[in-house]
Amino acid sequence: MTAPLARVVIVGASLAGLRTAAALRDHGFTGSLTIVGDEPHPPYDRPPLSKQVLTDETAPDPALPVPELLGAQWKLGRSAVRLEPHERVVLLDDGTGLPYDGVVLATGSGARGWPEPRPVQGIHTLRTREDALRVRAELRPGRRVVVVGAGFLGGELAAAARARSAHVTLVEASRQPLERAIGAAPGAWIAGLHRESGVDLRTATTVTAFRADGDRVRAVALSDGTEHAADTVLLALGGTPATGWLAGSGLDLGHGVRCDSRLRALDPAGAVVPGVVAAGDVARVPQPLAGGEAIALGHWTTATEHAITAARTLLDPTTSAPHTAVPSFWSDLHGARIRSVGLPTLADEVLVHEHDLPGRHLKVTYLRRGRLIGALTVNRTRSLTAYRRELHAASEAFAP
Ligand SMILES: Cc1cc2nc3c(=O)[nH]c(=O)nc-3n(C[C@H](O)[C@H](O)[C@H](O)COP(=O)(O)OP(=O)(O)OC[C@H]3O[C@@H](n4cnc5c(N)ncnc54)[C@H](O)[C@@H]3O)c2cc1C
Repeated sequence: MTAPLARVVIVGASLAGLRTAAALRDHGFTGSLTIVGDEPHPPYDRPPLSKQVLTDETAPDPALPVPELLGAQWKLGRSAVRLEPHERVVLLDDGTGLPYDGVVLATGSGARGWPEPRPVQGIHTLRTREDALRVRAELRPGRRVVVVGAGFLGGELAAAARARSAHVTLVEASRQPLERAIGAAPGAWIAGLHRESGVDLRTATTVTAFRADGDRVRAVALSDGTEHAADTVLLALGGTPATGWLAGSGLDLGHGVRCDSRLRALDPAGAVVPGVVAAGDVARVPQPLAGGEAIALGHWTTATEHAITAARTLLDPTTSAPHTAVPSFWSDLHGARIRSVGLPTLADEVLVHEHDLPGRHLKVTYLRRGRLIGALTVNRTRSLTAYRRELHAASEAFAP
């Protein structure tokens, strides 16, 4: 990244891409800025898609504000199909080549679908604005909805369907929702919340078949031997980093674009690929709290923090500070405010301080080798502040 920075190309016109563009300008970048996005829309926010947008036809437009003086050239409805780091060119699907001095990979992740061939009509995933409008049209009073996967997104889909007075079956392979992410006891609390909210939660259960009328889903068969009538099936099976277009680029693409702590993309030997940074869901970045292990997180706040580091690194990698922000995440479920900091998933010990389902309170801390690595609350957001401070200090201490 020693070449002077006159032309920056950002691939991915969403949260991480937009915020990196804004940070570049904030830090004095005056060169040309091109933002490529395969969706037809200017950047918009995804968290409302599984919340207000599903439950409220009058929900405000989730557009992300674009700074007035951004001065970017937008190429929307265009996909990047190839990166050639030696020539420093991004190739688009219309054959255009965009030369760059610095490129930002911000292509996020895509919803994991059912293995091909797609079984029948009436089965949906949710990642884009169009997906959300399609799903909302399916959520009507009395409709029978089966949600597959009780992670954060699946939980929100089930909650939105209940809020629209649909009958909801929620299918989860683990013994508790979110068991691997937040632990068995907190997962059991979430299970109780779903059941009290009228969701028919089936844990330790998998889908064995989709039954159809013609080409339209009519029921879902489960491994517990039951069969559930379904007008609509919503899949919430997690995401996969959008790295397909980077095949052949020479980058390390296992579970996302592997980066160093300054967000510079690495090759499989661990060497920096000059001029290439990544940000947001697509980036797998060393986590000080995890002893430097590189992890792709899929959190909104992380995408915004990456953007600042990525911009500073492009401008001057010798002065940009390593990414040490403490991860944080939120979810809203049947009116309960779930908030987490740190990396609960990596804990080897879970301490439950408050487990009050009728009062709608939960407070949990997570330890790894005896040290705090995360905390999670429901409707106790304020008590996270002290944990966040402690995690921040630990993160700084572990920083490279
Ligand atoms: C329904 C939903 C609800 C969520 N709720 C929460 C929440 O409550 N809390 C939370 O912390 N996080 C939540 N998230 C996660 C959060 O939205 C993401 O972390 C955030 O959007 C990441 O931003 P990004 O810019 O990295 O990726 P994305 O927002 O995925 O944007 C990537 C963009 O790049 C485009 N793209 C991909 N490939 C190409 C290509 N080859 N060429 C051009 N463009 C391309 C994509 O179409 C997309 O527009 C939610 C996500 C979803 C989908």
